[in-house]
Amino acid sequence: MKEALTLVKPEPATTRLDSKTTDIGSVFVSNYPPYSFWNADAVSEAHAVLNAPLPDDAPAPLLGLYMHIPFCRKRCKFCYFRVYTDKNARDIETYTNALATEVETYAALPRIENRPLHFVYFGGGTPSYISSRHLKQLTDRVKAAMPWDKAEEVAFECEPGTLTQPKVAAIKEIGVTRLSLGVENLNDDILRENGRAHISKEVYRVMPWVLDAQFDQLNVDLIAGMIGETWENWRDTVQKTIDLNADSVTVYQLELPHNTVYSRDLKTGEMVETAVATWDEKREWHAHAFEQFCAAGYEISSAYTVIKRENSRGFVYRDAVWTGQDLIGTGVASFSHVGGVHFQNAPHWDGYLEPAAKGRLPIQRAFQPTEDERVTRQMILQLKIGKLNAQPFRDQFGVDIIERHRGALERLRSEGMLEFDGSGIELTQAGFLRVDQLLPEFYAEKYRNSRYT
Ligand code: SF4
Repeated sequence: MKEALTLVKPEPATTRLDSKTTDIGSVFVSNYPPYSFWNADAVSEAHAVLNAPLPDDAPAPLLGLYMHIPFCRKRCKFCYFRVYTDKNARDIETYTNALATEVETYAALPRIENRPLHFVYFGGGTPSYISSRHLKQLTDRVKAAMPWDKAEEVAFECEPGTLTQPKVAAIKEIGVTRLSLGVENLNDDILRENGRAHISKEVYRVMPWVLDAQFDQLNVDLIAGMIGETWENWRDTVQKTIDLNADSVTVYQLELPHNTVYSRDLKTGEMVETAVATWDEKREWHAHAFEQFCAAGYEISSAYTVIKRENSRGFVYRDAVWTGQDLIGTGVASFSHVGGVHFQNAPHWDGYLEPAAKGRLPIQRAFQPTEDERVTRQMILQLKIGKLNAQPFRDQFGVDIIERHRGALERLRSEGMLEFDGSGIELTQAGFLRVDQLLPEFYAEKYRNSRYT
């Protein structure tokens, strides 16, 4: 696969997958079937699976824990996550106490008890927003309920402006192995325009502390196509990111789901469509970044991520989610997947806190996929790596994904998006750079053209 991914400039747009403008409603595909099909009726399925012990007739899936810390200094104008910018220290303590109680509740369930954690992920929001004291209080309780000292990865997302040297030390102290820094861009005008809370000098202020702490892996996030982006600035941001010398860099293309500030401004006419980069521009910026990172000693690990060649560590959380392992998602609006059932927590403050703090699972909607849907989910998520081997699907599900999706595969091959044969699928460069747009080709008919969330 890597030979196909020495990215050069994308070909000119010529296929029906080339929507030029970044339409409102564009999404980053993180799950299947679409979230809009999950419902309250299926919540009983989630409780049933959690209250039954692990079946002993098959190998146990790996288990991970996600903790959602939904606080940010400011709301970025492109953000579509559940975040709060108006909570005080007391609110945060109330929340982290409920979160710890929720983990304790899970730890006592028949499906979960005594299983070792393979990975832990602190996501948000901004996990680094909370104080070192709150972090320690939270993690002392969580570790007592579900120890993570043998976990292969403990990942933690940070916003540069929320870090201090003692906080970096506290994050290291709780056992974090993968620190992810939300840099996004290194131009202050662009950061300000897009509503980011940090500016570039905060990145440079924290880097020595982060490097001194010697996390196993440092990841830096960038976004191609922030409002105000130009070729000149993007080249500069990519070069400066190479100079930061992170172990891993993740490049997202700006999306416009329905619930962002920018989507609202476009709908009301406060913002003109031409202010948003086209998909062609974003793909060219994405391709340029990968080309430069590869020339600087990185290799491509997925459609979004490059890692240093000498750093053999992958990204355990991503690989576990994409291969259908068990994931307990705790915190407001978090997503879980256990025993083949998907479920999501209540998406609002009171609706989450009230049950979670009392030791009741705050699950609000769920989905029990069919085996066909599980196959499709794993297939589309793993296609984001760029290359898919058909054999593991035969081994795990007894399914030939090539035959099952031959129609879509032939269509996409004729459009230059991928190549395939009986052994597997390989995206072309053109397909790799628009993977989120081509994945719905593999959806069952009833899920196509439906709202995603
Ligand atoms: S820092 Fe991240 S989670 Fe917070 S508002 Fe910005 S994009 Fe959203």
